[in-house]
This record gives sequence, structure tokens and C-alpha cells, in this order.
Amino acid sequence: MDVIILLTILISGTVFGSFFTLAVHRIPRNENITYVRSYCPKCNHKLYGFDLIPVLSYIFLGGKCRYCKDKIRPRYLLLEIFSGLIFLLVALSHNIGIESSLYEFIEISFIYLFLCGVFIIGGIDKENLIIPNGLIIYELVVGFGYIAFKIFNKVSVYSNIVGLLAIPLLFTIINLLVKLITKNENKLPFGMGDIKYIAVIGLFLGFSGQVVAMLISLLVTLLYLIIKRIKEIPFGYYLSIATAITIIILPHITEVLEIINFIIV
Ligand SMILES: [Zn+2]
Repeated sequence: MDVIILLTILISGTVFGSFFTLAVHRIPRNENITYVRSYCPKCNHKLYGFDLIPVLSYIFLGGKCRYCKDKIRPRYLLLEIFSGLIFLLVALSHNIGIESSLYEFIEISFIYLFLCGVFIIGGIDKENLIIPNGLIIYELVVGFGYIAFKIFNKVSVYSNIVGLLAIPLLFTIINLLVKLITKNENKLPFGMGDIKYIAVIGLFLGFSGQVVAMLISLLVTLLYLIIKRIKEIPFGYYLSIATAITIIILPHITEVLEIINFIIV
């Protein structure tokens, strides 16, 4: 029975994956994302149900547009498979199966909703070096929904509130100090988009999860700087990768989280 649940999650992940590529493409252009029907970027032909099944369409159509026979970039296929696998990994690491309680099912649903925003923010920041406010608001809504659910179930949300406020406040103060000293507004250490993103990550993962995500993102950033030698740093992109990793490992690092939490109690 677990197989059916996990398979459903894997397939949902690929469906969301094809939505992510659409959202990453359209949100920075202010195009509507609720109108899901897509079009071929080459011949502009509308794509219908059969053209839009994740992974399978690509295989059946031989990686080509049905109308103009232009090659579809395999990147889309890879992204769909990739997000399906991430969804599956999250379910496996959180031990989701037929035995899971209603609480666990609702909690994992919140995690997936949050993860969707993380994917889209990462993709947009990588391509455009911006984190749209609309997505921060989306993550805030998901985060506060999750908090309300925890309060309703008498689970402490202290760490989440500290996560929302402490580090973002610290970074804002550092920014203000640097601005006072250098009198240069364009060379601040932390971007506003990054600070807001770190705040919603703290709200959702709690203070300790947020610290872990930031440490991993520093590692990821360093790796990229060394391997790829890029100049401009889409920090939100690395933060997204780190947050996805953190969500996967979170249930297995409770001792680490407790140690970090000692700072705030
Ligand atoms: Zn076409």
C-alpha cells in the first residue's frame, strides 16, 4: 500500500515540476500562471492535454513538438524527473506511508506547498537575480497556515517565531551599520530579497532548521564559486537548494537541531 502513496507523490512531483518551469518562465514576465494551458515556445501552437503529461509526453513525442517538430529541450524533462524525485525523497525521509497519522499527512502537505515556492524562487533567482515579493507573500501565507495548524495541535511555535524575526533583524541591523559607515547604499552585505526569503524559511523550518539551511547554503555557494567561478551570486538559488536539502534531512538531525536551539532558550 505504501507503494501506491509513494507513487502518487512521485507523479505529483513531476506534475508540479512541469508547473515550476512554467512559473519560472512566466512570473518575471508578469504573465498569468493560473492559465495553465501552454504553448510551444517555437511555433506558438497551443499545447493540449496529451502534450502536457509530464515525462510521458516527452518520451512518446520523441522529445519533439508535435506541431513544428522542433526539439524540446531535455532540460524540461530533467526538471520534471528531478522535482518528482525530491518530492519522493521528502516523503521517504518523513516516513510517509499508509500508517501515517492525519497530522503527518497534513504536515507533509504544508511541506510540499512550501517546497513549491522554494523551487520557483530558486529558478527565478537563478535566471533573473530577483526574488519576487509575490512569492515571499505566498510562502508567508503557507508558513502562517502551518503555524496555525501547529498551534491548533498544541505544538510549540516559539522556534518558528524566533526564526521569522531574529536573523532577519540581525542582518537588517548589519546592513544599516554598513550603510552608516560606508555611506553607500548599493554595496550592502545582504540583499532585501534574501533577508525576506531567510525570514520565511525561518518561519517555516524554525530557528534551528533555518540555521542549518543557511550553513548548507554557504557550502553550496562556496562549491559553486570554486567549481563554476561565477561572478554574480544568486544567493536565493543556493538558499533554495539548501532549504530542499534541509527539509529532507530535518527528521534525521534532531540532536543537531536541539543543540542549535540552546541558543534561543
Ligand atoms: Zn512547436
